[in-house]
Amino acid sequence: MRLDKYLSNMGHGSRKEVKVLLKSKAVEVNGEIVRDPKVHVNEHADLVSVGGEAVTYTEFIYLLMNKPQGVISATEDKYDKTVIDLLGEDEQHFEPFPVGRLDKDTEGFLLLTNDGKLAHELLSPKKHVDKTYFAHVEGVVTEEDAEAFKKGVVLDDGYETKPASLSILESAAVSKIELTITEGKFHQVKRMFESVGKRVVYLKRLSMGPLSLDPELELGEYRHLTEEEVASLK
Ligand code: URA
Repeated sequence: MRLDKYLSNMGHGSRKEVKVLLKSKAVEVNGEIVRDPKVHVNEHADLVSVGGEAVTYTEFIYLLMNKPQGVISATEDKYDKTVIDLLGEDEQHFEPFPVGRLDKDTEGFLLLTNDGKLAHELLSPKKHVDKTYFAHVEGVVTEEDAEAFKKGVVLDDGYETKPASLSILESAAVSKIELTITEGKFHQVKRMFESVGKRVVYLKRLSMGPLSLDPELELGEYRHLTEEEVASLK
């Protein structure tokens, strides 16, 4: 694998940032300073260090994507493009999968990893990981709706939602809101608004647990999490 890709995969920044790092002579391979991003390293045999600190290669990959509308958050789909199709070959090689699902027409924060244990923990109902969404909602969203969401609303299948926090950013014919939920039921945000007679017409996830959408990422773009970001999820 190319050295710049190796370092980027291990959370040392984008390929551009890694280039700067290499220029600063901070990177050694087997004890020799290397400045060429194209140098090939064997992730299982070569010893890579950054600023004197050894880089431990792991088989795990952790990506943060700004999911666009129109793609499916699954590893494969018969008809549509999936979020995996948006990844480069170097990332696909790790066989990552999305942590939870966003609807085809939902945008925003999506984690992808091949770390099954972490994914399982983040999705576990016992963990109550906060997920915050921004939405445009057809209908005037009111403080009564916020009260109802705080208490819990009954969805179309009879499920009663856990307390959720609704902030009304703009109350109008099409309202703008932020909603934080701790669960991940199927179409949960849309169904919560349906339960109070309103319709979500645009939905974007802003954050999950301690991590938020990176404003540097355009729709469809992704980056590797830093080591600190991965640690914050555990
Ligand atoms: N709630 C929804 O209704 N859709 C999503 O994609 C995520 C949460």
